[in-house]
This record gives sequence, structure tokens and C-alpha cells, in this order.
Amino acid sequence: MDGQDRHFSAALRAASTTRDVRIAAGNLGALPAVLLQAAPAQRYLIVADAHTWTAAGVRVAVMLAATGMAAGDPVVLTGQPRVKASAETARDLATVLKSTAALPIAVGSGVINDLVKYAAELADTSYVSVPTAASMDGYAASGAALREGGFKRTFACAAPVAIVADLDVIATAPAAMAGWGYGDLMGKLVAGADWIMADALGVEALNPGPFAMVQDNLAAWLGNPSGVRQGDRAALDGLMRGLIMAGLAMQAHGNSRPASGSDHQFAHLWEMEEIAVGGVPVSHGACVGVGCLSMLAAYEWLLRQDLSRIAPAELAARTPSPDALRAEVMASFPLPFMAANAWIETEAKAVGPTVVEERLKALQKNWPRISARLRQSLPAVETVRRWLDEAGAPSSAAALGISSTKHAQDYARARLIRRRFTGLDVLHDLGWLGAAVAQSGAVT
Ligand SMILES: [Zn+2]
Repeated sequence: MDGQDRHFSAALRAASTTRDVRIAAGNLGALPAVLLQAAPAQRYLIVADAHTWTAAGVRVAVMLAATGMAAGDPVVLTGQPRVKASAETARDLATVLKSTAALPIAVGSGVINDLVKYAAELADTSYVSVPTAASMDGYAASGAALREGGFKRTFACAAPVAIVADLDVIATAPAAMAGWGYGDLMGKLVAGADWIMADALGVEALNPGPFAMVQDNLAAWLGNPSGVRQGDRAALDGLMRGLIMAGLAMQAHGNSRPASGSDHQFAHLWEMEEIAVGGVPVSHGACVGVGCLSMLAAYEWLLRQDLSRIAPAELAARTPSPDALRAEVMASFPLPFMAANAWIETEAKAVGPTVVEERLKALQKNWPRISARLRQSLPAVETVRRWLDEAGAPSSAAALGISSTKHAQDYARARLIRRRFTGLDVLHDLGWLGAAVAQSGAVT
């Protein structure tokens, strides 16, 4: 057992649901044994789409038949131009699962995994994941992001009991998909920095185990971006380990804090707005990668400032009243559903001037320690931009079809759409959010 495997064994012990994770080239043949051990059932049901059925589903079906494991007719989902992550589809799938009393095997990437995860929850069964692309970090996560009535939201549901990730299968996915996953993993740099800030300011304590699960090996997992693009097995191994570990860390912590910070707030904003390039919706991971760059530039700017000179009481006196805050939220989101949702989230984290003053005093007092830790953990924004380029992932807001005016405004808007306290809130409380955007060089 090498260091990475030990790391994974510890993570599996801490995880709430997932019991077995296999990541290796050519390991799909291990699936029947994994099923017998971690997901014993009278009957299995393969769920795939047309692409993932060809990539791995058909082999899974042959293996189950060869080992005498009962499996009904597979469900191969179709959609134009592709299968959509809708709650309605998951409910239909749950009806099939209930009528066949089968344990589902999700052969696919983000959409298939989320559909099966929620369907399994509704049918009161566990499920197994066979990833077909290193495209996002949701494989081992609890919760599924699905659309209902046009709006995307996260449905509570359990993670898979087992994951068998064959890197030979994953390498056959379109190269752009690994770039998305690389962007999603890159975001963990900022998620870690945000948690360090929230902890130091007394807002939300850092949970050392889940924090370390993601942060300790992050540099190594991200270390071969051109290999990711080329389908190099070692590079995909690191990427896949990182993405799955992020899910296990969320299971261990009980929410997404270990894997999602202000980087994801930009992504959620842009996904809700359904930004698209040439009519094609921009992927989650591509948004996270650019959100990560946006925040790294802001953190770099903050690290150049002199916090010994701030006046916490004066700054805290500028804290907006609830009415003023509500007016800012309403003016920031023309779409009514986004404004309503943003107000719920913003109100949940709003505090008065006394608390803001305490936080700013803590920031000032602890800044030498916090800034040293951030300098140590955050690579330079230009380095990260190069890595994203090498991985084949978008590396600017312009590449996502976002204008510089919108990008600049979205720092303030991203802060308002989630209750999670991040570097965006720190910059806001310092009265520096505008200056950071204008002077950081992030918006060009
Ligand atoms: Zn993500």
C-alpha cells in the first residue's frame, strides 16, 4: 500500500456512505468483485447514455452475465442533444428501480451520476458509480444537482457505496471533459483559502481532517496539466483521485465547505444565468476554473495590502442596514428567482456592525499568520492560468463569453448568492472589493 492508498483508506473510513473506491487503468474487471463485497444485491440495473453505454456499459453488462449476476435490461437514456439532468427523469428512473427491485450502476459522468444518485435515493436503494470521464467532483459527493421547473438545485441524496474508475475508459472521453474536471479541482485552492479566512475570523471553524484530505495532495494532483489533456494515465490518476477525494471530504465534513468556496460562487452564478458559448452551455468545471482565477487575483491583491493600518471600528460603521442590503440584492439580480434566492442566502449571513468590527480586529491581529499561510498555499495567478491552458481548460472570463464589465460586477454578485463566508466577504467588510477588482488585474 503506497502513501496515496493509505490516504484513501483513511478517507473511506471517514466517509458517511462510500465504502470502496478503485482507481486504476484497466480495472473495470474488478467490478463484479466490488459489487459482491460493497453492494450485494439480488439484481443490478445498468444506467448509461448512448456514449457511455459504448464506452463501458456494454462491457459491464457482459461481465455481469459472465459471472452469473442478475441484471435486467439496461436503461440507456437519450436526449436532444444530450441527456438533461432533470428531477423528472430521475423520478421516472426511480419508478423503474422500484418495479425491478434492482441496485443501479451509474455508468457515466456528471449527468448520469446525478440522475442515478437521486433515483436511488427515491427508490431507497444504494448505488454504484462507474465514472466515464474525469469531468467534475460529484462522483463521491452527497447530493445531486438537478433541474426542476427550469431551476437547478441540489437534492439531498446519498453518495455511491462504491466507485470503480477505469482510467482506460476515462481516457476515451473527449479531452475537454478532463479540462473541466481539472478546473473543478483547481477551485479547491481557493476553497481552502476561504476556509482559512473563515476560521481565522471566527466565522466557521476549520475541520482539520476534511481540510487535509483535499489540501495535502492538491499540488500533486494538479501537477501534470498537459498530461491531463493528453490522457496520460498517471495525470488522469491524480486528477481522478483529487476529484473523488473532494467528494469523500464533503461526506466526512457533512457539507461542501472542504471543496467549494468563492470559486464555486462565481460558477453557481454563471450556471444559474446559463452562460453559453456558441449556444453550448458552459460546463461547471470551466466556470470553477475561471472563478478560481478571479479569486486568486483578488487574494494576491489582498496579500499586497497593509492591514496594520485599517481602522476596524470605522469600517464596521459602514455596514449596510438590512434594508440597504436588501436593496443591493434586488438591484443586483434582474431575474426574480435569482433575487429571491440571493436574498435568502445573503440574509442568512448578514451581521451587524459589532460583529463586523470583531471580525476585522481578528483579521488585523492574525494577519501575519493568515497571510503567511495563504502565501504558502496559493500559487501565483499567472501560473494557474498557464496550467489551465495546458490542461485545455478555459483560462479567462472572455473564453466563457463573459464581458469585462460583467466579470467586474460579478465579484459583488457572487458574494450575494451563497451564505458561505469567503474571501469575498472579507474584501467587502474591508470596503476593498471594488479596489481589488479594479487593481488586481483579474479583469481585463
Ligand atoms: Zn464543483
